[in-house]
Amino acid sequence: MPRTREQMLAELKAGPKVQAIVVGGGINGISTFRELALQGVRVLLVDRGDFCGACSSAPSRMIHGGLRYLENGEVALVRESLRERDALLRNAPHLVRPLPTTVPIHHIFSGLLNGALGVLRLRNEPAERGALAVKVGLSLYDLLSGRRRSMPAHVFRGREATLALWPDLPQAVRYSATYHDAWISHPERLGIELVRDGLGAGPDALAINHLGVTGRRGRHLLLADAPGGETFEVETDLIVNATGAWVDETNATLAPAGTSPPSYVGGTRGSHLILDHPALVAALNGHMIYFENVDGRVCILFPYLGKVLLGSTDIRVDRPGEVRCEDHEVDYILKSLSYVFPRITVRPEQIVYRYSGVRPLPRSDAGFTGRISRDHLVAELPGDPPVLSLVGGKWTTFRAFGEQAADRALELIGMTRRIGTVERRIGGGDGYPPDEAGQAAFIGGLVREAGVSLDRAKHAAGHYGADAGAVLAFCRGMDDAPIAGSCYTAAELRYLIRHEFARTLSDLLQRRTSLAITGKLCAAAIEQAAAILADELGWSPEAAVAEDARFRARLDRDHGLTDDILSDRNPTAGSPACV
Ligand SMILES: Cc1cc2nc3c(=O)[nH]c(=O)nc-3n(C[C@H](O)[C@H](O)[C@H](O)COP(=O)(O)OP(=O)(O)OC[C@H]3O[C@@H](n4cnc5c(N)ncnc54)[C@H](O)[C@@H]3O)c2cc1C
Repeated sequence: MPRTREQMLAELKAGPKVQAIVVGGGINGISTFRELALQGVRVLLVDRGDFCGACSSAPSRMIHGGLRYLENGEVALVRESLRERDALLRNAPHLVRPLPTTVPIHHIFSGLLNGALGVLRLRNEPAERGALAVKVGLSLYDLLSGRRRSMPAHVFRGREATLALWPDLPQAVRYSATYHDAWISHPERLGIELVRDGLGAGPDALAINHLGVTGRRGRHLLLADAPGGETFEVETDLIVNATGAWVDETNATLAPAGTSPPSYVGGTRGSHLILDHPALVAALNGHMIYFENVDGRVCILFPYLGKVLLGSTDIRVDRPGEVRCEDHEVDYILKSLSYVFPRITVRPEQIVYRYSGVRPLPRSDAGFTGRISRDHLVAELPGDPPVLSLVGGKWTTFRAFGEQAADRALELIGMTRRIGTVERRIGGGDGYPPDEAGQAAFIGGLVREAGVSLDRAKHAAGHYGADAGAVLAFCRGMDDAPIAGSCYTAAELRYLIRHEFARTLSDLLQRRTSLAITGKLCAAAIEQAAAILADELGWSPEAAVAEDARFRARLDRDHGLTDDILSDRNPTAGSPACV
């Protein structure tokens, strides 16, 4: 059983000296933390919010090589991303799965010259990709997947075969091409599993969410405990700044008085919609559709846990702050949908969730945001202690980025690597069968041994992988009734609070569970979750009411979920699908 947040906080206060502090518990900070913990470093990971609570909970949920980056000439990035994609399919098969991806094509020749100019880095604007450009790109993509290719090679189809499979595409479509990438069902859960793996491997390692860095005094960082409001200091030999879009802000906070560190990051906001739209799910025929909007930006939509995930926008932001999916972005995304599926309409109530995040991209002057590199680098500010800043990156490449940062960190603190992570299974991926037949047998075993329904067993396997049996065993003998409108039970929420560091309603309902993103969150579920959190964490009635109000305000402001919508959702109206 991992140590709780409160135990780790007490441990830290009792011995406030570490070898490295990783500031920022997004996926890249978590990855660096895991790498260092595995090598036996006394490392502390902190996030002022929740783990994976910012950009890392807002991706398109693709684990991909980045076909589009070939146009930027970023062959090395695509090769690395494909290698990491394949590693994730092996190491986290409970959360990362193959995704057949189809590109509808309307022209033969367009995009070729642009593609070539892009490779030569002579072009900045997007252009529609024709059949030949897509063919060249996918052939290179297959080639870069390497000899150990884990996915089928791409296929091309003519108009008739395309419309037979996707009759709702525009009749003007002339070809389509299908290749394979992957998708991640619960990215925030993978983040927590990596944290737990790091803590399990490194008894000296500490990971504490809701603990922010607010200042520095020489080798000491000032930490502020968000729930308690208490501040204290920790001494460190090294700082890793993994604060994503806030990297520059954090460096300014950490910089000695009178100095101004360089600016590394220029963020762009990206937003997504989740649609409850059975006709659109059917129209997708199990594929992601990867297409160009009228402005040449690549958009995506794919079946996601019974709904459709649709996005995204790419808008420069000067300050990361709190971002939300604005109404004009909803219009943009829905317009893009009408371009690819002109006969499908979306009613406002079919948008069951919207979300937004800021991509922490390397600072760039590119006129078209899609041309800004998604590559990653570790920048170094010398000093005592030195500061390593993690700049850029994607979800897909978190392991490679964390490895790169950790290798430099180890050099700086005079230690050597003893454990690699390319083949290391993650959390419930350790022991979870990679193939469908094996997974079906695993789920059958859960039904027999834990005495649960098939739906519940599928739900548990899809969330916790090989750890599903342990979670169900925890729930046995407690109040294990489902939370309103879902397959999650009261006991399961208690498990997530005790074992996965959930401290707020948002931690519990937006990241440890997929209740919010799948459009199942309702007023009754929030009330039940608040009561469980209050009981587990010893909140006063006033604190519980305040947390409830804070959470609902956030749902309204950032995710389009008003109190009326939440109250109108009637969990007894339909059978609760377990996802
Ligand atoms: C719209 C969109 C779509 C994307 N789609 C994909 C995709 O499909 N596939 C893919 O591979 N990648 C995708 N990405 C990219 C990927 O999500 C990001 O690269 C990645 O999540 C960045 O992680 P991070 O850890 O660097 O930053 P973050 O996740 O933002 O983490 C930074 C953390 O630092 C914390 N922090 C800030 N200041 C402090 C402080 N003073 N003290 C303590 N903590 C602090 C914040 O609370 C935050 O949790 C997408 C990104 C966006 C926005």
